[in-house]
Amino acid sequence: MLNIVITGAPGSGKGTQSDLIVKNYGLFHISTGDMLRAEIKAGSKIGKQAEQIIADGRLVPDEVMIEMLHKQILEHKDAKGFIFDGFPRTVAQAGALDKMLAGVGAKIDILLVMNVKHETLVERLILRGQTSGRADDNKETIEKRLAVYTENTLPVIEFYRASGRLTEADNNTTVDECFAQIKRIIESHKG
Ligand code: AMP
Repeated sequence: MLNIVITGAPGSGKGTQSDLIVKNYGLFHISTGDMLRAEIKAGSKIGKQAEQIIADGRLVPDEVMIEMLHKQILEHKDAKGFIFDGFPRTVAQAGALDKMLAGVGAKIDILLVMNVKHETLVERLILRGQTSGRADDNKETIEKRLAVYTENTLPVIEFYRASGRLTEADNNTTVDECFAQIKRIIESHKG
C-alpha cells in the first residue's frame, strides 16, 4: 500500500493535487470535506450536524470524523493505497489515523504539506467562491477557517515535522509545477 496524507491550509490546492495523484498513481481518494458535503446533500444525520459548523468555518467534532474515516478505510482496505485529503486536522485525528492504519496492517508512507502564502490563499478561495457554490468560500468564513487551521492543524504539522516525517511542496506556483515536486517526492519514496 502507498498511503499519503496531503495537508495544508484551506485553498492550498490539496483537492487539485489529490486528483492528479489519483490519476497518476491509482490511489483511493478520501476527502473528508467532500464526504461531509455529500452528507449534507443527502440530508443525513451527520449532514444536519455538520451543515452549520461548516458554514461557520469551524471543525466537525473529532469522534464524528474519526468514525467516518474508519468506515472508509475498512470498506476500501483492498485499495492500492489512500490519499487522505483534509484529514487529520487535529492532534487527536492524527493519533487516530495511525491506529486505524495499523489496524489494517498499514501506515502513512508520505506526509505532504502544501505551503502557500496567506494572501494567495485568501485570493484563491475568494476566486473559488465565485463558482464553487460553497457556503464557506466567503471573506469572513475564509479568515475564520485560516485561523482554525493555525490553531488546530498547524500543531499536527509541527508534530510531523519534529518527528522528521514531513515532506513539503511549494504551491505558490502553477498546478503543474507543484505536481512535478509531488511526483519527485513520491518517486523517491518508492525508490
Ligand atoms: P475542506 O473541503 O477540506 O476545506 O473542508 C470543509 C469543511 O469541512 C471544514 O472547514 C470543516 O468544517 C469540515 N471538515 C473537513 N474535514 C474535517 C476534519 N478532518 N475534521 C473536522 N472538520 C472537517
